[in-house]
Amino acid sequence: MDTVAPVRTQSPDVAVRRYVADAARAVRLPDDVAEILETSYREVSVQVPLRRDDGSLLVAHGYRVQHNGARGPYKGGLRYHPHADLDEVRALAALMTWKTALLDLPFGGAKGGIQIDPTTLSARELQSVTRTFALSLSHVLGAYRDIPAPDVNTNAQVMAWFMDAYSSRHGYTPAAVTGKPVELGGAPGREQATGRGLVYIVEAAARRWGWDLTGKRVVIEGFGNVGSWVARELDALGARVVAVSDVRGGVFNDNGLDVGGLVATVAAGGTVPDADVAHTPVTHDELLTLECDILVPAALGGSITADNADDITASLVAEGANHPVTPEADRILADRGVRVIPDILANGGGVTGSYFEWTQNIQQFQWKEERFNTELRERLEDAFHAVAEYAERDGCTYRLAAYAIALDRVARAARTRGYI
Ligand code: NAD
Repeated sequence: MDTVAPVRTQSPDVAVRRYVADAARAVRLPDDVAEILETSYREVSVQVPLRRDDGSLLVAHGYRVQHNGARGPYKGGLRYHPHADLDEVRALAALMTWKTALLDLPFGGAKGGIQIDPTTLSARELQSVTRTFALSLSHVLGAYRDIPAPDVNTNAQVMAWFMDAYSSRHGYTPAAVTGKPVELGGAPGREQATGRGLVYIVEAAARRWGWDLTGKRVVIEGFGNVGSWVARELDALGARVVAVSDVRGGVFNDNGLDVGGLVATVAAGGTVPDADVAHTPVTHDELLTLECDILVPAALGGSITADNADDITASLVAEGANHPVTPEADRILADRGVRVIPDILANGGGVTGSYFEWTQNIQQFQWKEERFNTELRERLEDAFHAVAEYAERDGCTYRLAAYAIALDRVARAARTRGYI
């Protein structure tokens, strides 16, 4: 898989540290406090041996990084990907700290991953690596310690195996994992929450800026959980989804793509370029610079760089993926007047939905999806307007405003606990 994945031009950890350093200066954080917030609390590296179906042994490496727990138990997804190394997991864990703080959720930040290509594994092998990983990490996890969730190449089924393995050692504990299937304590609405939440924020932004979303041209990179839900929801609002891609390539239609047809193809195990919908093929590079109003990177990190930022035509980039824009590209976009809704805000619907699932598991109670969506919209709108007000007041980017709010909250919690 991923022979066409973007080549990393910069360590994601270095990129996230740059954003944090900028915000630390903006909120005048003392250097020693900033240093605590720039480094991880705990980094666990484990061996994940797998006996393959053909009898051979594969030894994969897995990681769990707990970045900061001042505001509550660590929280963050699990990624199965050949690029999921310690550097990437560390950066993603830090992003979770800033995201949960910005959304005012009672969590810290963590992330985990296994450096493996899951497309080469059978269902039995996938279950086996998941159980081995869960058991080797279980001593640092738990409903009030650290709660994993799905991320790239992991889904509700993987979370069910993970929860089952954890529970085999600690007793039935649905709140130890979020993003589970609904029949195992998952929350109706959680699966859609990241993409849907991004669209709630775009709607709030459109109202604030006096935009009409009808007919707005949308380009989406990545058509997995996040990208496909963004496409469905924006399409339903009357926007025109003109191009989407997955790891295999992109499709374009100036009149708007048949989003339902694309979703059906992918749900049946197909890929975006194979979909039987009217389209012209586009390459990954072409897709990002197609003429559009709203660009939603929803694949992997580092896809918008100094090499293509000048050619982005969108007036809004809403970051569905984590760290899709490098700091150099971020500066270019800001100088060009392109608005960027940063990852820690734009894709915060996922962890907010996980928070709802966790609270429901603890209470052994289940909300209807309607209540889930109403509460999701309210929390995301509040976070969006707080960021917009800060940015308007200080004349800074939304990213700097989002990090500044988050850093200030985490530093206060750490200080109040007596941790720093
Ligand atoms: P997913 O595995 O469901 O989908 C990933 C998609 O990206 C797939 O369509 C894949 O084919 C595509 N892709 C991979 N490499 C690509 C490339 N080079 N060009 C174009 N497409 C490519 O993952 P997801 O859960 O949708 O996550 C996508 C992004 O959103 C990740 O950055 C993830 O960290 C972030 N995110 C996810 C959640 C969540 O709840 N799932 C929450 C917050 C953030």
